[in-house]
Amino acid sequence: DAPVEKYEYQAEVSRLMDLIVNSLYSNKEVFLRELISNASDALDKLRFLSVTEPDLLEGASELDIRIQTDQENGIITLMDSGIGMTHQELVDSLGTIAHSGTAKFLKALKDSKDSGSDSNLIGQFGVGFYSAFLVADKVVVSTKSSKSDKQYVWEGEANSSSYIIREETDPEKFIHRGTSIKLHLKCDEKGFAHPERIERLVKNYSQFVSFPIYTWQEKGYTKEVEVDEDPAEAKKDGADDTVEKKKKTKKIVEKYWDWELTNETQPIWLRNPKEVTTEQYNEFYKKTFNEYLEPLASSHFTTEGEVEFRSILYVPAITPMGKEDIVNPKTKNIRLYVKRVFISDDFDGELFPRYLSFVKGVVDSNDLPLNVSREILQESRIVRIMRKRLVRKAFDMILGISVSENREDYEKFWDNFGKHLKLGCIEDRENHKRLAPLLRFFSSQSEEEMISLDEYVENMKPDQKDIYYIAADSVTSAKNTPFLERLYEKDLEVLFLVDPIDEVAVTNLKSYKEKNFVDISKEDLDIGDKNEEKEKEMKQEFGHICDWMKKRLGDKVASVQISNRLKTSPCVLVSGKFGWSANMERLMKSQTV
Ligand code: ADP
Ligand code: MG
Repeated sequence: DAPVEKYEYQAEVSRLMDLIVNSLYSNKEVFLRELISNASDALDKLRFLSVTEPDLLEGASELDIRIQTDQENGIITLMDSGIGMTHQELVDSLGTIAHSGTAKFLKALKDSKDSGSDSNLIGQFGVGFYSAFLVADKVVVSTKSSKSDKQYVWEGEANSSSYIIREETDPEKFIHRGTSIKLHLKCDEKGFAHPERIERLVKNYSQFVSFPIYTWQEKGYTKEVEVDEDPAEAKKDGADDTVEKKKKTKKIVEKYWDWELTNETQPIWLRNPKEVTTEQYNEFYKKTFNEYLEPLASSHFTTEGEVEFRSILYVPAITPMGKEDIVNPKTKNIRLYVKRVFISDDFDGELFPRYLSFVKGVVDSNDLPLNVSREILQESRIVRIMRKRLVRKAFDMILGISVSENREDYEKFWDNFGKHLKLGCIEDRENHKRLAPLLRFFSSQSEEEMISLDEYVENMKPDQKDIYYIAADSVTSAKNTPFLERLYEKDLEVLFLVDPIDEVAVTNLKSYKEKNFVDISKEDLDIGDKNEEKEKEMKQEFGHICDWMKKRLGDKVASVQISNRLKTSPCVLVSGKFGWSANMERLMKSQTV
């Protein structure tokens, strides 16, 4: 017999197992969702590899998941014909936590502290493979990788800090390829080993799995059999022995067990959008991306003609946990399929500009080759067209949130992703027209609630030509600047750009609806009340004071001028027409130090 090797779990796993076994009491049924999702991932991986290595499927071309229950002994067995695990993969995968969903769960758990909500959390996040221990006190995994000619058995028990691995040597137990997971249910959980219960759970949790899931079900068919007539009946008829025995037909139900297809395997994005409800889209989102909040918006579309693809896109309700890097996002937010085969979730950057990296979704193309690589994507004309359409759809979706009656939704969106759109103003000139209406700013007439550029334009004075702004580090400092005095007096609205990136974004836009953005802190501000006659007079009268001040200040200032822009303050420092604004200057400094 092959030797049995004993391994200790990584500390985090032990902690998680302890939690799962000893303190989570509700929502236990999620174990099935997690195990099915692993099986589906394993099948995805194999299908993907088999595109270039068809030999991998040899001998067992069916890609499916089968679940069998043994009610008497309280055992559930889940089998997949997926990629399987090598010895090393077993150790790496089922003894450590590599997986983002589980890490998210542990973090949320830490954040919540309120242990009462643990069981809720587990339902929201799932804890992957280890959730088997919600219902089982012993789990036996038997797996045969397509890369190895050996089959291995992993065995773990609840309340143990170690697990064992051994090679399978019993030919009776050999599987061709894939993984079988046997759950020995805890005494109180044996009810899960009921075929109908499993069927119900599969229907409930796995409507988006694109591989067939079969469950082992008892079936029956009725058949008619001929039986001899009851002799008592025959007597009544006065018949005697010489009469031929009367025959009668009777219906009986013949019972047998067989595999039954339990899920619908058509991916949701292939369905007719008219037949899919918002709830279904949201469910798909939550399951696919391991999210627990509903998305803010979704969009399901098909494009035909030159380039054919289907897609469902989503705007999440929050930024991912932890600090997100919008400059170099590593998001895995877009799942790329080619002809329904999952290819990768690593190509976000090829399908979306990085400032839209927060958009999540699936894209299924009929025109790309199955062995598509990053290099192919980067050079493909098809991808360029797809990218354009995807971006447009993303904008439509965001615009949809911005015009919805529920103002709060857009506030949420802006809180989370406003920065991304501003980055877009800098990086994506082509889409300025789509980006600008989505921007939001505080203003001198709206210090509490942000306004859109459309709202600004609507509120412009009849003879006002420009959109005024002042950049500052906060609303308070913006509204106290002396530059505002005259504009307040004339009731002109001024945008307060208080986010460091605002000013760069606005200078990139240059104008909105043919109205230029004008920085009120720059020299030569014209607010439409120039009186040249009077200016001339003033210059003559006070010109020598200006000269004297310039002499005293020397190189500290570029020039000293008489201004008509002040109301109560005696003087103000402005920046030159072509130079950095004071705010930019401050930003540049903070970046070079
Ligand atoms: P995740 O699925 O998020 O990676 P899990 O805890 O659910 O986390 O699974 C851990 C790892 O175990 C998987 O990433 C995979 O490598 C491996 N694994 C689990 N179940 C299977 C399976 N049925 N076939 C192949 N590998 C599996
Ligand atoms: Mg998993």
